[in-house]
Amino acid sequence: KQKVYLFSEGNKNMKNLLGGKGANLAEMTNLGLPIPQGFIITTEACNDFLHKNLILTEDLKLEIKNNIFKLEKITGKIFGGTNPLLVSVRSGAPISMPGMMDTILNLGLNDDTVEILSIKINSSFAFSIYSRFIEMFSDIVKNIPREKFACIEEELKKKNIDKDNFYRELTKEYKNLYKITLNEDFPQDPEDQLFQCIIAIFNSWNNNRAKIYRKLNDIDENMGTAVNIQEMVFGNLNNNSGTGVAFTRNPATGENDIFGEYLINAQGEDIVAGIRTPLPISHMKETMPSIYEEFLAYGKQLENHYKEMQDIEFTIENGKLFILQTRNGKRSPYAGIKMAVAMVKENLISKEEAIMRINPKDITILLHGSFSQESLNKEMPLGKGLAGSAGIAVGKIVLRSEDVVDPDSILVRTETSPEDLSGMSIANGILTAKGGLTSHGAVVARSMGKCCVAGCPTLTINLETNKIKIGNMSLKEGEYISIDGYSGNIYKGKLKIDLSDEIEEFYEILNWSKSIKKLSVRMNADTPEDCQRGLRYFAEGVGLCRTEHMFFKTNRIWPMREMIVSDTLEERKSSLEKLKPYQKNDFIEIFKILKEKPVNIRLLDPPLHEFLPTTPEELQKLSKLMKISMAELKYRLQKLEEHNPMLGHRGCRLAVTYPEIYLMQCEAIIEAALEVKKLNINPNIEIMIPLVATFKEFQFIKNKIEENLMNLYPNIKDINYKIGTMIELPRTCLIANKLSKEADFFSFGTNDLTQTTFGISRDDSGKFIEEYKEHHILEKSPFESVDIEGVGELMKIAVDSTRKENPNFKIGICGEQGGDPKTIEYCHNLNLNYVSCSGFRIPIAILAAAQSNI
Ligand code: ADP
Ligand code: MG
Ligand code: MG
Repeated sequence: KQKVYLFSEGNKNMKNLLGGKGANLAEMTNLGLPIPQGFIITTEACNDFLHKNLILTEDLKLEIKNNIFKLEKITGKIFGGTNPLLVSVRSGAPISMPGMMDTILNLGLNDDTVEILSIKINSSFAFSIYSRFIEMFSDIVKNIPREKFACIEEELKKKNIDKDNFYRELTKEYKNLYKITLNEDFPQDPEDQLFQCIIAIFNSWNNNRAKIYRKLNDIDENMGTAVNIQEMVFGNLNNNSGTGVAFTRNPATGENDIFGEYLINAQGEDIVAGIRTPLPISHMKETMPSIYEEFLAYGKQLENHYKEMQDIEFTIENGKLFILQTRNGKRSPYAGIKMAVAMVKENLISKEEAIMRINPKDITILLHGSFSQESLNKEMPLGKGLAGSAGIAVGKIVLRSEDVVDPDSILVRTETSPEDLSGMSIANGILTAKGGLTSHGAVVARSMGKCCVAGCPTLTINLETNKIKIGNMSLKEGEYISIDGYSGNIYKGKLKIDLSDEIEEFYEILNWSKSIKKLSVRMNADTPEDCQRGLRYFAEGVGLCRTEHMFFKTNRIWPMREMIVSDTLEERKSSLEKLKPYQKNDFIEIFKILKEKPVNIRLLDPPLHEFLPTTPEELQKLSKLMKISMAELKYRLQKLEEHNPMLGHRGCRLAVTYPEIYLMQCEAIIEAALEVKKLNINPNIEIMIPLVATFKEFQFIKNKIEENLMNLYPNIKDINYKIGTMIELPRTCLIANKLSKEADFFSFGTNDLTQTTFGISRDDSGKFIEEYKEHHILEKSPFESVDIEGVGELMKIAVDSTRKENPNFKIGICGEQGGDPKTIEYCHNLNLNYVSCSGFRIPIAILAAAQSNI
């Protein structure tokens, strides 16, 4: 099987085999772009290497040698020859992992070829690239720390050696360091150099930072990296040369405008390392206008070809432009939405493609909002950096990555490195003193969807005193700051945040999603305010209104408590009469807001003791209100105690014992409906009975309710109401078909269904679920995302058996997981009618529902 491909033999669809970098270099070669030529060793070869013995097989070596020969033909240069071929050895995984693995430049130099280049070009250039090669080789292949080389360079600089001899001297000392450290000479045979580098790049797949990056980004451990061997071009040849990175659009704001940075007379790595401060690409328009135009044209060509914003690396060698890499650029969530919508309008992509490009997670990030105009008007920024990654963040200053323990922090660093990854992933935002928009901090922050302000020139960090200074203001670690990734501004203290659902494109995407999705999306909302917010995000109804939440307000809790502690039916009924008007009014408000949209109201569900007082003062008050002694009260409370309340006297079991509770609630609902009817509002009501386990249980309660309503309200037939049940016990899933003969609808209560299927209490699961995730026993908490294998299977049994006889039976889901994209996809495939989730997750659910239907 072929293990090595020339660039001209590949294409962009071969990412898994050739890696992203290699497949795109091949694609660009075929498009006729100016690409220094080379060949690619496949990810399969890497995996063979990693899984077997960690040696290069003779077969592979032979294939590589053949390709060197072909490359020599293509370039007219010879490896180690008088017209020496120099190459870079570049890692490249199928999924881009920027800066995580290694690349070695200038390979092919040795004591002979460097002299040839010295004569051909000049000795300062020849020895500078040779010394750099030695340094990179020593670091990446032999693990000799770069600092040692940096120290040697510093020392040598003090000696005032003339420019022509400096790098010659430096090379000598580097080779010396190599020899002292390893007790061997620096390898002189280019083929030997190459094989050692290939091994090192294969191994770099398993270095620590790459492992962390894969974990954070859910990247498969078994993909492996390809290795690209490519002819060198030199951006550091003279002042007519340079190197840079550019995005075809602005990755922070989404604007359709080329955006990038470059350095004159510099070699590749310099720009990513953030050592020298680069110039904005617009500057090239003046200094190298024809190259600038040429570059713009390639950018457009690539964007049109890939139909995605491109992140392009380029080098100019003595006035000639070369493209070294292109890939779909990482962007902030804000820019992601802007670009997707813009590209639809430019007819570059379809609405469906635009929707598929948006990560539901990004919507959450966007909804984190922006600083309120009011506080922006009041506060003067302490300083300003670059808007590295859009968003805003408020948090405590933390100066070391390992000290970031909670999201209430902002990691403040001079510059970030891959060692900071774990801290960055926890912190709310990132602030750096150095580095441009393509520096590590900004790139990683964008990929994490985190706010980042990069390269604030007035920021200094003192790790001895644990203080930072921004301009004249000195701040201690632990003090609060606020950073704005849209403007780059930094503020002292905590700025007020406005939820910014103001982004026009956000609504555009939601609108498109709405017309594409099949599932309805409803909200879990208990109050009129909740309902209003949900409607702003296009909720199509209420999927769960938890009536008990209406009782927790201060003036209602007392009659509620009286009701619970009552000993007789009369007592209980009289407290219920006090509660009824409150409940009725709440429903009137909700019906007025929802109009004809469905409202699913769940009757009282939690164990009653949740409402009871605990403090002595409150107990006193209750005994007075009820005119019973403290001793009597305590006796009654004791009777209510349960060993296992979540499996105890709750849900419809309460109504079997005390039917009057549900009767009161249903009266309040119907009276509210009759009331709003006068305003010409015809509410669409679903009355939902919780925790039903048996058919007769449901029938018993439903009959009581209907009988009572018929007696009280002669014109009830004008009201559009249904009585259904929640399915939240495994038994209920198994008898769903039978239940559907009595019930008008079902709604899966996946919180309790998960609790009772796993036998894990949701409220206690936090204590051990993390370990389950760590050991990959569970990939996710089943309370966040429905466990498809078990809980999902029970749901499927219920749906299939019910729909077999009654294909139009209405079924929804109202558990917490209803806002989780994976769960939504499953519900879509199950053909549910709707998902319901909390208000702030509705946009996510709408998007995920559309994505499921594309
Ligand atoms: P990374 O994946 O970390 O971006 P790359 O393989 O892209 O690493 O290499 C980093 C930089 O090295 C490139 O951006 C480019 O500037 C420089 N480089 C790599 N190969 C060559 C080459 N053949 N000629 C000139 N510069 C190169
Ligand atoms: Mg690169
Ligand atoms: Mg429940």
